[in-house]
This record gives sequence, structure tokens and C-alpha cells, in this order.
Amino acid sequence: MSTYAQGGLMLITDTLRLDAALLRAQLTGALVLPGDEGWDIARQAWNLAVDQRPTAVAMPETVEDVVAVVNFAREHGLRVAAQGTGHNAGALAGLEDTILVKTSEMRGIAIDAEARRARVQAGALWADVAVPAGAQGLAALAGSSHDVGVVGYSLGGGLSWLARKHGLATNSITAIELVTADGRLVRADAENEPDLFWALRGGGGNFGVVTELELELHPITEVYAGMLVWPWERSAEVLEVWRTWAATAPDEITTSARLLQVPPLPDIPEPVRGRQIVVIDGAYLGGEAGGSEVLRALRELGPEIDTFEMIPPAALLAMHMDPPEPVPGRGGHMMLRELTSEAIDAFVAAGGPGSGSSLLMLELRQLGGAVGRSGEGHGALDRLYGDFALFGVGLVVEPGAAEAIGRTLDAVLSAMAPWDAGSAYLNFAEEPIDTSVAYSGEAYERLQAIKARYDAGDVFRANHPIAPAASAS
Ligand SMILES: Cc1cc2nc3c(=O)[nH]c(=O)nc-3n(C[C@H](O)[C@H](O)[C@H](O)COP(=O)(O)OP(=O)(O)OC[C@H]3O[C@@H](n4cnc5c(N)ncnc54)[C@H](O)[C@@H]3O)c2cc1C
Repeated sequence: MSTYAQGGLMLITDTLRLDAALLRAQLTGALVLPGDEGWDIARQAWNLAVDQRPTAVAMPETVEDVVAVVNFAREHGLRVAAQGTGHNAGALAGLEDTILVKTSEMRGIAIDAEARRARVQAGALWADVAVPAGAQGLAALAGSSHDVGVVGYSLGGGLSWLARKHGLATNSITAIELVTADGRLVRADAENEPDLFWALRGGGGNFGVVTELELELHPITEVYAGMLVWPWERSAEVLEVWRTWAATAPDEITTSARLLQVPPLPDIPEPVRGRQIVVIDGAYLGGEAGGSEVLRALRELGPEIDTFEMIPPAALLAMHMDPPEPVPGRGGHMMLRELTSEAIDAFVAAGGPGSGSSLLMLELRQLGGAVGRSGEGHGALDRLYGDFALFGVGLVVEPGAAEAIGRTLDAVLSAMAPWDAGSAYLNFAEEPIDTSVAYSGEAYERLQAIKARYDAGDVFRANHPIAPAASAS
């Protein structure tokens, strides 16, 4: 439409600039255009390696702001991409002719302890919810990182440390408020707009700008959680024991096993700083005695560090040692059908000692349990298809790093191809992929039909797009 790039700077027509000035006058929040002061900060994503060049960046502070921006975009033939933090900005393809709606100014939350519900505005981070919920004896199905956005994570699935017991976070959503393509504020729940409610839970940012989520909380005051660490020369031996252990582990425990090449940065805990290690971390829903019994086979491997102890669930946000602040990253993932001894050997050979891996982290998340079970009332992503999720990431901190990371990711993913489940977990997909493989065939068709019903003009540009069904558009 009206935007074009020149010398790397996105320019917009005078008419659009004038109309945008009128929009700006209506908004409580900011509207930033290319060339405006603060443009480079406004367009920045959490993933610092991603160069976002939208037509404009809106930072709504109210629901009315969101409505005004969506109406403006539709009337000007522009698209809208909602973004909470930009953790998954790598998957968003170009942002030409698109208003990026950053929700970071809408971070309010409210907890109803009696009903065990949290109401969460669009820009809330997991720390905003998990900490006050914990203070009231409740736990949310938060991910491993304190600053991942609740909305993006939850709409895309949501694998928490309680996942094998309580399922994907998306299926703990009880209501969603959003602004749809026609500029309406809609509440979607089991009774109102049930198709839309179903589609949003797994279908992500394809149907509107979510302004608020309501989530179920769980009455959990403590978990037995921590990490076990060995030198990475022991990777194959440790992972072999972990994979056989995982096959019979109870749903009460959810773990991850990682090969880590930890950078020598000052904010990383001293015992692991600058080291190559193999780490198993996770959480057990139950007491210390039960947890110790469950972990016995892993502890028999004689970890050099063992931090498992009873902790409040909000402390899980720090357990995985995720980056405390935005970083430039490049990642890749694969859903695995199963892990055999041969799979462990292939994994370690491609990404472990002696491989020349350029990855900071190469992870296997334990799935199964409630993550792998369909359930009544679930949304479009009713479960994940695969027993383990592989995720690898490297830091793009010097010239050539992105290519080197890409080479290691290619080597790992091709080595693991025999165990590829042929599915995807879109929250872990950091590059554009064929989104249809993430859902059952029936669910994907239904998603396309619902997309055509609510957004036939494809106003909403999600990180992982669902094309509207052709017949209905
Ligand atoms: C360090 C790190 C740790 C992670 N840990 C976990 C983990 O433990 N478990 C897990 O499951 N995943 C994890 N992830 C993946 C994470 O869930 C995805 O990156 C997720 O998309 C992040 O959501 P966000 O809102 O922070 O990111 P964004 O990039 O801001 O959002 C992702 C997408 O969500 C949609 N969206 C966001 N806000 C809205 C809105 N208001 N309305 C409509 N659509 C919206 C949009 O389509 C957007 O492109 C992790 C990622 C990183 C980088």
C-alpha cells in the first residue's frame, strides 16, 4: 500500500502521516512513526537480533486505544501485528504495511483468590502474575522466564514446569477479551463466541488484539524443584539415564535436559559461569520425600551440583537461568516422537562435546502426561504431538554468529530427523514455518474457517499465520 523502504528507512506517504497525526490525537498511548524521536526503541523486540520495520508502532494504554488503532489500520488498508514483548519476533515475517501494536503499557493484573482466577492485561509479563498469585498461595502455569508475555505464551500453548500435571497453559484460559477486525471489543469464553474462544487457544494472534485474559490458577504453595548439573563430557551417559527415567516418570514431575555452553557473564551464577555442562532441571508437585524418591535414578549419576529443594512456585521463574534481559538470539526446534538410545547418541554427536556447537543451549523438554492428552473443553491446540520438544538457541553477538548457529541447528535437526514427530510447537518456532503441522488436520481446517469468519481481510498478522479458508473469504 503506502509504505516503501528507502536506504533501510521505512517511509510513509504524506497523507498517511497526516491521518496518523489525527489518530495520535485520539490515543492515550503513543504512536511512533519512522523518523520520529524514539523510533528505534519503539520498534525494538525482546529478541535483539530481529530488525522490525513496521509502518508505525502503537503503544496503547487503553482498550479504546486498541479499537482506534485497529479501525485506523483497516480503513487505511494496513495490517495489525500485536506484540507483548517480542520474544517470538523472529517468526514474524516482514512488517510492511503493518502497525505493530505493542501492549507493554497495559500490564495491569487482578487476582481473585477465592475463584482462583487471574485477570491479566495484554502486556503483563509472567513475573507480574506469578509473584502476586504466589503471595495468595496460588500458582499460574508460567513458563521458564520471568519476562515472557502471558498473552503470547498462553495463546501459543504454554509449557510450564507444571505442564505434565496441569496441561498446556492455553487450556487454563477461561475467558479472552479482544478487539476484532471490525473494531468490536468481544468477550470470548465457553458461552460467548465459543468458536472464537476455541480458536484463540492455540491459534494465537490471528483473530484480533487481545486486551485481557482470564486464567485459572492452581492452589500450590510449594514445589520440589531445582537443577542437577554434570560436566558436559558426561552428556551421553546422563541423557541416556534421563530418557529411560522419563518413560516412567509420574505426571507430577516435568523436567528439561540441556547441553549448556554458559557464557562468562557476571550475572550468571558463579558455579556454572563460563562452563560447558549438562543440566537437568524441573519441578515436582509434592513434598521433598516423594520428590527425592522420583529423582533417585538421576541422583545416582552423582551430579556435581544439586539444588533441588522446596520452593514457592514463583521462584521457578529463575530456575532455568533464562536471560534476565533482552538478548539477540537465533533458535530452532523439532518435536520428537520418542527418544531412543540412538537418538541420544545422534543428539550428543551433533550438539555436544566435540561437535563444535555454536549453541548456547540445546534442550530437550519432557512432554507427555497432560501435555499429550486431549481434554473436553480444550482449545485449538488441545495437546502437543510428540513425547519431547527439542529447542536450540545461540547468541548472535558477533559477525558470522547467525550463520554458525544456523549450521549447528541444521546439523542437530538433520541428525534428529529419524525421530521427528512431524509436528511443531509454535511457541518454540522462531522462524516462519508451515503452521498447519502444529494442529490436527481437523483443527487446522476449523481454524481457517474461523479466521475467514472473523478476519476475512487478514488484518491481523500473527507470528504464526493461519490463512483464512478460501471459500469463506
Ligand atoms: C528466553 C525464553 C524462554 C521461553 N520459555 C518458554 C517456556 O518455558 N515455555 C513455553 O511454552 N515457551 C517459552 N518460550 C517461548 C514463548 O512462549 C514464545 O516466544 C511466546 O510467543 C512469547 O510470547 P510473548 O508475548 O512474550 O512474545 P511476542 O513475540 O510479543 O508474542 C508472540 C505472538 O503472540 C501473539 N500475541 C502477543 N500478544 C498478543 C495480543 N495482545 N493479542 C493478540 N496476539 C498477541 C502475536 O501473534 C505475537 O506475534 C520462551 C522463549 C524465550 C525467548
